[in-house]
Amino acid sequence: MTVLDKIFNKDEFTKDDLVSLLSLEDPLDIEKLFKAAYQVKLKHVGKTVWLRGLIELSNICTKDCFYCGIRKSNKNVDRFTIDFDEVVSEVIWIKEHRYGSLVMQSGERSDEKFVDTVEALLKEIHLKTGNSLGVTLSLGEQTLETYERWRKAGAHRYLLRIESSNRELYRKIHPDNKLHSYDTRLECLRRLRKLGYQVGTGVMQGLPGQTMEDLANDVLFFKEIDIDMIGMGPYIPHNETPLGKQVGDYSEKQKEDAVTLGLKMIAVTRLVLKDVNIASTTALQALSPLGREHGLLAGANVLMPNVTDTKFRSGYQLYNDKPALNENADESRLALEKSIENIGENIGYDLQGNANHWKKRTGE
Ligand code: SAH
Ligand code: SF4
Repeated sequence: MTVLDKIFNKDEFTKDDLVSLLSLEDPLDIEKLFKAAYQVKLKHVGKTVWLRGLIELSNICTKDCFYCGIRKSNKNVDRFTIDFDEVVSEVIWIKEHRYGSLVMQSGERSDEKFVDTVEALLKEIHLKTGNSLGVTLSLGEQTLETYERWRKAGAHRYLLRIESSNRELYRKIHPDNKLHSYDTRLECLRRLRKLGYQVGTGVMQGLPGQTMEDLANDVLFFKEIDIDMIGMGPYIPHNETPLGKQVGDYSEKQKEDAVTLGLKMIAVTRLVLKDVNIASTTALQALSPLGREHGLLAGANVLMPNVTDTKFRSGYQLYNDKPALNENADESRLALEKSIENIGENIGYDLQGNANHWKKRTGE
């Protein structure tokens, strides 16, 4: 057995193991890592891909994260909020096309009107679809009361990325004020867990100053907080952000390297966490046309196809090169189904696709 094979077959991984896997450079070794992660995926979650229709509710945001294109201080963004009825019709599209789950994502707001609207939407969605869809929210940091109201109104899952588990790095990529506190973010993850959500988190890879050790610690952090779902991807510069200006546009080589690092993180996370749901995210697709499919082959088992009406898509640009800006949900769906078939996987139609990890943890 080679040194690599010995690492792949471990049950408990040390930080050094993870750093060495993330640092692999020989394409053949990297391929072996992806294959090993794929085997773990087959064993613990199978080869069914779960689809979550993604609705980008609004690009209005009260925060100013240094990396994000829709940050409050970016004045070159036409701000939109999708009408209530339009969201409901997108949900019905999701149901009719047999996606088992949906994700509602948005810039962060915590005003009463926003909290009420999300609550009302959750109730309406369940009413219109007979409680059949899994519902995930990705609406940032909120109070315990807000998370509780949304949970009671029918939200099952919540995605809140830690962005980086290195507190220092977190501070460098956010303004240094109370609204952008690492401790609040950690506390929010605890609140969600306490309220019975299936909890998802994740990080960006390739942030300026981020090391392989940071990423290894991120994976160990996921394990330590016993997370159910992972949504993570490469950091991609956006021209009109402080971090994007510092980094500049990626060259083709930088894009390729960012994809490889993103795929390695998926693979290592699968090896260590085994039975969680891991999304192959749009950021991978933004950097490489087949990035999302490669994510599935490196251990991911969830895709979040964008079903937001194309008229809003250009307004929701977290980073440069957002894919499928003009491709409507029907076109995306056909292309996606074909590409999943091409890599020999199948789609979990009509099923919510809850994380096996969550099922074991809660006995549901
Ligand atoms: N406002 C919510 C949800 C929208 S942002 C929130 O912040 O949780 C969702 C995710 O997009 C963020 O967690 C971040 O990891 C990612 N993101 C933002 N800007 C990005 C960029 N430039 N490159 C890659 N991912 C980015
Ligand atoms: Fe707002 Fe989320 Fe972007 Fe931060 S990452 S600026 S909270 S949309």
